[in-house]
Amino acid sequence: MHSKGKLFIISGPSGSGKSTMLAEVFEKIDNRYFSVSATTREPRPGEVDGVNYWFKTREEFKSLLEAGEFLEYAEYAGNYYGTLAEPIIKQLEEGKDIFLDIEVQGALQVRRKIPEAILIFAIPPTFDELERRLRKRCTESESKIRERLDTARREYKEAMKYDYIVVTDKPGEASNEIISIVTAEKCKVSERKYLIGEA
Ligand code: 5GP
Repeated sequence: MHSKGKLFIISGPSGSGKSTMLAEVFEKIDNRYFSVSATTREPRPGEVDGVNYWFKTREEFKSLLEAGEFLEYAEYAGNYYGTLAEPIIKQLEEGKDIFLDIEVQGALQVRRKIPEAILIFAIPPTFDELERRLRKRCTESESKIRERLDTARREYKEAMKYDYIVVTDKPGEASNEIISIVTAEKCKVSERKYLIGEA
């Protein structure tokens, strides 16, 4: 018997470098599934429907919500974001490791439903660095940037409820930290007791 898939939830303020880090993680590990969320936010330049997000109108999002399709959902910076439950359940059953890139309210909702989920909070080395990265990205107006910084301050307070913190400093380092976490979680006695059961 082999270990079942595990559910890893990655949160961190926008500008934390999560997306780059996760792209690196996916190049380095197999048998994983990245959940594509639904959102009412407008696509940013280069974003593709079904790849980065499922882009929905508010009405479409509401119908999915009422039909009970979401494992979790949250309102963030004026838009709705939600994780569709069905693909997650299917992939976990197939033994894949699942990665969700979701904000803190949603992460804590998933933890209530799936207590064995592993929560990882990703942050740059300093808060000043977070602000610098947000400004460099420059896809948002000044008021949006300020709004995202205020949200980030609130999110940092929730980090104490997480299992791990990874620091998105030098390229490659944070993805290595994630891979170390994945490896450690799979080496737990609870995961591998089938190896000693017959002795
Ligand atoms: P962005 O608009 O920058 O792509 O994402 C904004 C925030 O929404 C990020 O913190 C991201 O992790 C979060 N997010 C993306 N998808 C979901 C989701 O399905 N559920 C929740 N709760 N948050 C999400």
